[in-house]
Amino acid sequence: MATTVRVPTATWVGIEIATVDGKKVAYPLLDPIPLSKSAQHEVLWYCTDPTTDLTIEFPGGSPFLKRGPFSVMGEDTVSSGHVRPDALVCTECPTKPRPHQQGHYKYTIRDTKTKQVLADPEVIIRN
Ligand SMILES: [Zn+2]
Repeated sequence: MATTVRVPTATWVGIEIATVDGKKVAYPLLDPIPLSKSAQHEVLWYCTDPTTDLTIEFPGGSPFLKRGPFSVMGEDTVSSGHVRPDALVCTECPTKPRPHQQGHYKYTIRDTKTKQVLADPEVIIRN
């Protein structure tokens, strides 16, 4: 009998770095990032500017098996690990308006060198 092996689905999210009014900012190319818990999704973050090192943190708790903080350095890609089995799921998007919190996980993207917060995006966990 053949065994079914579930391959985790990775969502690649590039982070672009720009300078606006003399201040460095980061733009994740997907925000929010929608992920499925049952399909064991994970995020692969990378930075399009290899001269900027980034730190990704989930100040309110990580929805992933890896808690973070995640270090995005040079041309490397960092994996979040799968969505945790006990992660909360949003059942209200997009039918109900915000603000609702459940299943929404805010994270910060920081310049590792200066500690400055460059972006404040989010992940949405679905079933
Ligand atoms: Zn929602």
